[in-house]
Formats: sequence, C-alpha cells, structure tokens
Amino acid sequence: MDTVNISSLWNQACEHLQDALHIDVYSRWIAVITPVRVEKETLFLGVDNDFYQSWLEEHYLPLICDALRAVSGKDWNIAFTVNPVDLFTHAEAQPSPKQPPPKTLRERLLPRRQDQRLPLNPKYTMSTFVVGPPNSFAHAAALAVSEAPAKAYNPLFIYGGTGLGKTHLMQAIGHSVSEKNRSHTICYVTCETLLNEYIDALQKRSITDFRKRYRNVDLLLIDDIHFLSGKERIQEEFFHTFNALFDAHKQIIMTSDRPASEINGLEQRLVSRFEWGLVTELEKPDFETRLAILRFKQREMELSVDETVLTFIAENVRSNVRRLEGALVRAVSFMSLTQQPLTLDALKRLLRDTIEEEQQAEISLSAIQKAVAAHYDIRLADMSSTSRPRSIAVPRQVAMYLCRSLTQSSLPDIATAFDKTHATVIHACRTIQNRMDVDQTLRRQVQDISTKLGKSAHSLQQTI
Ligand code: ADP
Ligand code: MG
Repeated sequence: MDTVNISSLWNQACEHLQDALHIDVYSRWIAVITPVRVEKETLFLGVDNDFYQSWLEEHYLPLICDALRAVSGKDWNIAFTVNPVDLFTHAEAQPSPKQPPPKTLRERLLPRRQDQRLPLNPKYTMSTFVVGPPNSFAHAAALAVSEAPAKAYNPLFIYGGTGLGKTHLMQAIGHSVSEKNRSHTICYVTCETLLNEYIDALQKRSITDFRKRYRNVDLLLIDDIHFLSGKERIQEEFFHTFNALFDAHKQIIMTSDRPASEINGLEQRLVSRFEWGLVTELEKPDFETRLAILRFKQREMELSVDETVLTFIAENVRSNVRRLEGALVRAVSFMSLTQQPLTLDALKRLLRDTIEEEQQAEISLSAIQKAVAAHYDIRLADMSSTSRPRSIAVPRQVAMYLCRSLTQSSLPDIATAFDKTHATVIHACRTIQNRMDVDQTLRRQVQDISTKLGKSAHSLQQTI
C-alpha cells in the first residue's frame, strides 16, 4: 500500500474514532498519531514519545483495530513507533517520558469558559472553608481532587445534612481547579436544574445539545444528587453522561444529603458507580469548629463581636453552619442598628426563636433508621428490605413508629423512606403502640433509642 493509501486509510479510521470517543480523548490521544508505513499486515503508527505509546497500547489499541477493520474490511496489526526528535527546533518542547501529555489545541485555543457558564459563588472558596475534625477528611479529599482532577478520586461523593457545607466545598473545588487550569471547562449544576433542562430538552427535541453540554466538560459538579431518587429516565440519561465523562478521565463530583446506598429508588448501577471513587461525609460541626467558624466569619465581616457572644451562639446553635451564620448576622445587625454592645440577655431574646427551633430540631428519618438498626444490630438496608423474619420485622416497625412519633413527617414520606406502603406504616405504628402497653422490654428499648436520638421519652406521642 502506498503512502497516499495509508493516509486515506488512517483518515477514515480517524473518522470512526472521532465518533466513538470524547472530543478531548480524541484530540489528546488520536489526533497526534501519524501513520508511518505498512509492512504486510502491520500498520506502523508514529507517536511523539514512549509515554504516548504505552498509553495508547494500554487503552486504545482495540478501538483503533476495530476502526481499521471497519473501514478496510480486514484485520491489522498495529505497531507504534516513536517519532525521531528534531533536536534543534523542538528540544525543549519535547515532553520527557512519563510526563503528562501536552495541552491539546482545544485547551490552548479556547478562552476560559467557566466564568460565563457557571454561577459559582465567589465566596465559596477553600480559603473561606473552616476546617475542623468533623469535616477534615472531606476537606482533604476536596484538596486532593483539586490538585489532581480525575486522578486522585473519581467520582468524589460528598454527603451530609443540610447546611453543613456541601455546596461550599464542592464549589471550592471548582474555583481551585479553574485557577490552576484556566482552560478547563467547569460545570456546576444542581440536580434539580439538570432534571428541568432534561425535560426541556425532551420537549424541544434538543437532547443532543443537552448531552453535548454535559459530556464536554472537564469537571462536572452535580449538587444534591439525591434528587434523582425515583426518577428513572433522568437516571438512565445520567448513567450515560457519567460513563462518558468517567471514560474520558473527567472529574465528577456529587453532593447528597445521604449515602448513595440510602437514596431510595436509585438504580443499583448508579449506586455502585457513585461509590467507585471516594465517598466522604460532612458531619455536624462540634463546639470548637462552630466557634472557629464564627470567629472566621466575624473577621470576614470586619466586625468585632465579643467572645461571650460568639461562645453563646456556638453553644446554642448546633445543627448546622447556615443557622450559625444566621445567628451571627442577627447579632451583628442588632449591634449596628442600636450602636450598642450586645448583652447576653439581649442576645438570648434576639435568638429565642432560633434556639427553640434548635431544641426541637427535626431528627431525620434516616437518623432514626440508623439508630434503630444499630440498637438491634441489623443492617441499615434491612429497613427497606422485603425480608420478614421477626428479628428484622420488629425493629423495622419500631423505626416506623419512631419516625411517626418523633418527627413531623407525613405517612407517605415515612412509607417512601422504608420503601413500603402507607398502610404498612399505619399497621406498624398501631402494633408497636399496642405492644408497648403490655411489653415492658419493648417499651424500654423504644425509650432508649429515643434518648440516644436526643429526645426524651415524653416526646413519644400517640401516633395513630
Ligand atoms: P449544604 O450545601 O450542605 O446545605 P452550604 O454549602 O450551602 O451547605 O453551607 C451553608 C452555609 O454555611 C454557607 O454559607 C457556607 O459558606 C457555610 N459553611 C458551611 N460549612 C462551612 C465551613 N466549614 N466553613 C465556613 N463556612 C461554612
Ligand atoms: Mg447545598
């Protein structure tokens, strides 16, 4: 085969490969290959260094063979050869073996895009995230991902309760990556927006654009992924987006209010993918961290607030950082309006509602399920399983009863949390309530669990 034929064979194969691969993968790994010569059944392909050679051999050889077979109708052996280096003109520019590949043309030419396309909150950066024991692991993971996107942990899955800093930490990674890699395309989206855009795209028949938008990014940040719960079509779509990005070595970061395995109605294949990389929890801040956050925010606001005020807030507002901030802002606004220092009594009056709410802070359904599972030493998954042995059925009924008794959640919400019907929850509540009247052991168990959840036995109410 002469040279012209080699190039046309290779060009046709490239068209195939372009369709099969992510644009970045194609331009980084395939567009740089030059066809060199043919000897019998072997096609020699030139690459710039042995790093490319080993990478291509490990990752893309079967795809290249498939493409060649498709366009020529026969099987080819592929041999990579390293192009000779032009020492005079390119000596410095040649990447040494094992170094990351050079930037693609796309990376060099495209302007920074993230500023227009994503509304990252400028305040949510690494430097404004206060680190303490309850969030230090998640913070370390976030730093590792921003240092080496798609290499350290992919995907990164951050979960934790409301107002504990998930969005802040996720966006901080976005800022960090965008500062270090100016050409990277970063996309931040809440899962709810993603769903709305998907529905819109289905209606307008613009699903290809939708896919392009999310599959051609370097860093995809999806906030509140638990929103996928029970929504089958978007799960299917997201599954493919996830795979496309993951295969192209793009970083995916997700936040959720609970671990993936506890998101009801989330397909198993997504659960397992979400757990492929690193799963990390943001826990409720302890007293020291709460105080450190308040001190930090106060410095940021350039106001001096008495330490006793900060300590009082840190002691009394425990549930989440958003509330902590809210309490500080109230205190500070009061001081600036009245132009007076704030006494402890005035502060108590000012924060009365917040403190009351804190005291009655809703326990989450999943916290109840966890506490009951731990008490009876059964698996959390048994809470929503269909198995019926008594050793599992009774704890499950206890958990349903406690959900009804200790929270304001509706029967349908409780039913969903246990993957059961509304009628099953009513039956469970009745059964436990009646049995507690005659069975002291059960009554004590239920009371113990509520105490562990921070509720007194008096909080247990008639449920049905
Ligand atoms: P979530 O997404 O978990 O509901 P957010 O990320 O929206 O929580 O955080 C709520 C508020 O608390 C934000 O204003 C955020 O800046 C602040 N915040 C949370 N954690 C921290 C932290 N460790 N340091 C400083 N501010 C924090
Ligand atoms: Mg959030």
